[in-house]
Amino acid sequence: MALLEVEHLDVRFPLRHGEIRAVRDVSFALDRGERLGIVGESGAGKSVLAFSLLRLLSRPGRIVRGQVRFEGRELTQLSDRQLRRVRGNRVAMIFQDPLTTLNPVLTIGQQMIESLKAHRRISSRRARSVALHKLRQVQISSPEQRLAQYPHQLSGGLCQRVVIAIALLLDPDIIIADEPTTALDVTIQAEIIALLKQLCEKHNVSLIVISHDLGVIGRLTQRLLVMYAGRIVEQGPTREIINDAQHPYTQGLINALPQMALPRQPLAQIPGTMPSLSQVPGGCAFHPRCRYRFTPQGLPRQDCRERIPEAVASGESRVACHWVRELIATLPIEEETT
Ligand code: SF4
Repeated sequence: MALLEVEHLDVRFPLRHGEIRAVRDVSFALDRGERLGIVGESGAGKSVLAFSLLRLLSRPGRIVRGQVRFEGRELTQLSDRQLRRVRGNRVAMIFQDPLTTLNPVLTIGQQMIESLKAHRRISSRRARSVALHKLRQVQISSPEQRLAQYPHQLSGGLCQRVVIAIALLLDPDIIIADEPTTALDVTIQAEIIALLKQLCEKHNVSLIVISHDLGVIGRLTQRLLVMYAGRIVEQGPTREIINDAQHPYTQGLINALPQMALPRQPLAQIPGTMPSLSQVPGGCAFHPRCRYRFTPQGLPRQDCRERIPEAVASGESRVACHWVRELIATLPIEEETT
């Protein structure tokens, strides 16, 4: 049995006129110790999906359909109290900006000790020793000194290490990290990626990483979900998807990576923009931006405009495109450049 199973999840935000359908019919599973990435442009529904797993949606968002099972237990049916226990003890979250995650008026030590005491029957002395141990685990030098410092006295990279140490305090089974390196500069990003990977491997912790940056996800995860307009359009082993993406949207994301560009050549870009989640086009939501919505003879493919594609198996991946088999068999992959 997978550690976490999500089936046919639908999340909506009712509006005065209409609604935002942020997550649509999403299904996936996460094994113990597995590192899973969720990638897509801004507005694809990645963060809403992650928050909905623990019912952390901001109002008026709600799960209208689907199941979220943790160790076989249905989370959508738990009382608030039962869910708080899961959130605190079993699943931890890391957010994008460490400085806004940490409380600016408390020292690092106060925050770590309070956090431990809120969830465990533990003396202050023992909590301090656990906090020191976790700071050492995330390779923070002079941990005693850090415990006495305030967040503003630490660099961005150190703050994110502290946030990771806090996430590890209660020995969680799953860490959900929402854009964990976006607010950091490139060299610190690489250190945080290496640290998260090493900690998850060593302690057999599962990781769900949300990022718009396929480069980060590629280095950190073993399996990948690609989201577009609230749906998963491709999922499979990260390496297979990065080396041989099959959905036209995933191909576009990969071709837009700076490391894919030839020297002095402009980056390839996907034409157009992600639709608003309150006005997603019918049929395949990607069709207004997809070059393959026309046949090689220039005729429109009606299915692209009229029918939502089901995910079909292709190699080790599942791909939601009506024409994936034909595209793989017949079309060379070449991207538009700006
Ligand atoms: Fe493109 Fe059509 Fe496939 Fe959608 S279903 S990705 S529009 S070819």
